[in-house]
Amino acid sequence: MNIAIDGPAGAGKSTIAKKTAKELGYIYVDTGAMYRGIALYLLENDIDISDAGYVEKKIEPVIIEIKYESDMQQIYLNGNNVTSKLREEAVGNMASKSSALPCVRAKLLDLQRQLAKDYDVVMDGRDIGTNILPDAEVKVYLTASSKVRARRRYDEIIAKGETADINVIEADIITRDKQDMERETAPLRQAEDAVYIDSSDMTIDEVVATIIRLTKK
Ligand code: C5P
Repeated sequence: MNIAIDGPAGAGKSTIAKKTAKELGYIYVDTGAMYRGIALYLLENDIDISDAGYVEKKIEPVIIEIKYESDMQQIYLNGNNVTSKLREEAVGNMASKSSALPCVRAKLLDLQRQLAKDYDVVMDGRDIGTNILPDAEVKVYLTASSKVRARRRYDEIIAKGETADINVIEADIITRDKQDMERETAPLRQAEDAVYIDSSDMTIDEVVATIIRLTKK
């Protein structure tokens, strides 16, 4: 059984997917973290992504691995655990840009499909239901208004004791949506057979319960 959850940045996909996986005893696969891993490599090595051929050559030897430690997904980049660095805004922005490159997507496609073959997974991303796992038993397109998504991200940052400007966060979210939806390779869109869930006015538990109900149909 595989559950594919796609949707825009900040829709709560990872929180929902993690919780759903836990309740069902499945493995949670955060594909955004894999794109962030590649993005970190590009940033740390100052690689100019305007030249796709150059990026392809540079990332060819890069090894991205996914491991589970105390039930938490860890991303290894060339043997080093880089998980703690992946949530930075700069890494997210680079991931949004570099994930539009076919060579970056091709690099991660097999790894994602293999995980779904080996385990029951809840996999979240942008093209899981449309492209990576077209045969997933349950597909969900999870979204929320950009205002609500910005508010959630803002609250997260403030809870960490940091400062942020909610308008800048919302503008960032809108830019990211545009990049993800308008790219040529594997754009973010709802799969025809995906269930649309707008979580703007729903609690986490309500969304999780809705998805679990879908597995029982
Ligand atoms: O979901 P998250 O914000 O961690 O993803 C970072 C970026 O990686 C996204 O903005 C998106 O461009 C890209 N991504 C993707 N396909 C996926 C998962 C993430 O293109 N399956």
